[in-house]
Amino acid sequence: MTTILLVEDDAVLREGLKELFTREGWHVIPAGSLREAREKLSAEVQAIVMDVGLPDGDGVSLCREWRAAGETRPVLFLTARGEEFDVVRGLDSGGNDYVTKPFRMQELLSRVRVLLRSGQPAQPVVRSGFTVNRERMQVLKDGEPLPLTLTEYKIVAMLMDRPGVVPRERLLEVLWDEGGKFIDDNTLSVHMSRLREKVGADHIKTVRGVGYQWS
Ligand code: CA
Repeated sequence: MTTILLVEDDAVLREGLKELFTREGWHVIPAGSLREAREKLSAEVQAIVMDVGLPDGDGVSLCREWRAAGETRPVLFLTARGEEFDVVRGLDSGGNDYVTKPFRMQELLSRVRVLLRSGQPAQPVVRSGFTVNRERMQVLKDGEPLPLTLTEYKIVAMLMDRPGVVPRERLLEVLWDEGGKFIDDNTLSVHMSRLREKVGADHIKTVRGVGYQWS
């Protein structure tokens, strides 16, 4: 079943859109904040429709955070006229499309349909016997899924995605623990040592004073 994560803090609009999408035969997972969106982005979601102005931050930043963590599912922004929304910044963050409020419901529907059609499954990243399966948010070693936490998954996905060093600050920027809490430098070190035990210490190189690198 087609599943949409709908992130909108205006309860009336959210209900209206939920009804619209439901009539279209789609399953809707509603969220009213960035925190809820982070929590509710499950494997079944195929596309994300997200307001830009949310009570705990802006949707564009969350989209950038998701993209940095390897998230590839399509994102459509809902922007309000007069709201600070820079189209370049929006699309540069990895967003696929946007509509400006007030919009016609039919127009939104057709844009979402386009995104759903274009949302081809991402090519898995494969490096030295490890595969990142983004749809299932899993890392496989020689075909076997590793028992990683969500945070550990995000770290591996980021490291494997880049040939060079990933700075600590970059990791901290996009890493939030499962409860939506920002993690600090010490917590990152703890995650790293647990992760090394799971994937093998030699695969994660520490570049002193800079960050980490997959090897
Ligand atoms: Ca809003």
